This record gives sequence, C-alpha cells and structure tokens, in this order.
Amino acid sequence: MHCKTCAHYYDTDSECRRYAPQPSESDAKAQWPTVSAMDWCGEYQADHAKEEKAGAA
Ligand code: SF4
Repeated sequence: MHCKTCAHYYDTDSECRRYAPQPSESDAKAQWPTVSAMDWCGEYQADHAKEEKAGAA
C-alpha cells in the first residue's frame, strides 16, 4: 500500500490528485500536493493495473 500503486497518484509529476488542487500561501496558483511514491495515507485506493506493474518490476 503506497502512493505508487494508488489510483489517485499521478506518476509523471508525483502528485496526489485525490482532491482538487489547493492554493498555497506562497503561490496563488492552486497546486496538487507532491508525494513520494513510497508515501501512503488513509485515502489509498488500489489501482490493480499499477499493482501488477509494480509487482512485475
Ligand atoms: S495513498 Fe493517499 S497520498 Fe498517496 S496518492 Fe493515494 S490518496 Fe494520495
């Protein structure tokens, strides 16, 4: 169970897209949070295709 195999993980930019992007204090432009591939949280939702790919790697 890691971001790497979560349905909400956008691999290209290492972003969690579980929720809409939020504005930060330092930048008025809304952004998705950046996470590590090995992070995880309680909103994890398995993406079986990603799990199989990760298992095969
Ligand atoms: S495990 Fe949590 S933080 Fe990681 S991509 Fe999924 S929803 Fe986002």
